[in-house]
Amino acid sequence: MSTILTTIVTPNGKVFEGHVQMVSVRAKSGDMGVLPNHMPLVAPLEISAVKLKTEEKDEYVAVSGGFIEVRRDSITILTESAERQEDIDVARAERAKEEAEARLAELGEGSPEYEAAKNDLKRAENRLRVASLK
Ligand code: ATP
Repeated sequence: MSTILTTIVTPNGKVFEGHVQMVSVRAKSGDMGVLPNHMPLVAPLEISAVKLKTEEKDEYVAVSGGFIEVRRDSITILTESAERQEDIDVARAERAKEEAEARLAELGEGSPEYEAAKNDLKRAENRLRVASLK
């Protein structure tokens, strides 16, 4: 099967680089499976799991939104934070989830802090979900 060079980049550096058969992402416009020779595009991503299908295995990476850029010869995911499944600290994500829930319970809906806490909760829940994927 053909492959395409795929990179996941954050401000802290590369989290993944490899040749993949398919990249599955959750774009704002919906779920997308990108194969080699896909038409070029840029699309914003949800806080979600990225699935990378390589010749050896399927890998999952938690991303906190960002963008996917598909080019003829490469795919780049650029995001504020990304963690490979095996690097996710589950206890930390559980703590972050509890803290976000506590803040949401205190804050008034619609305030900027409320939206920030909702995003913190989404990131924590996403990390927990990605850590538990088989
Ligand atoms: P926390 O409240 O636990 O810091 P956060 O959602 O505020 O979580 P971010 O600001 O999204 O954290 O990320 C900061 C850095 O910490 C990033 O490099 C991110 O990859 C890493 N990170 C955050 N949570 C985890 C986790 N549960 N396991 C591994 N790395 C994490």
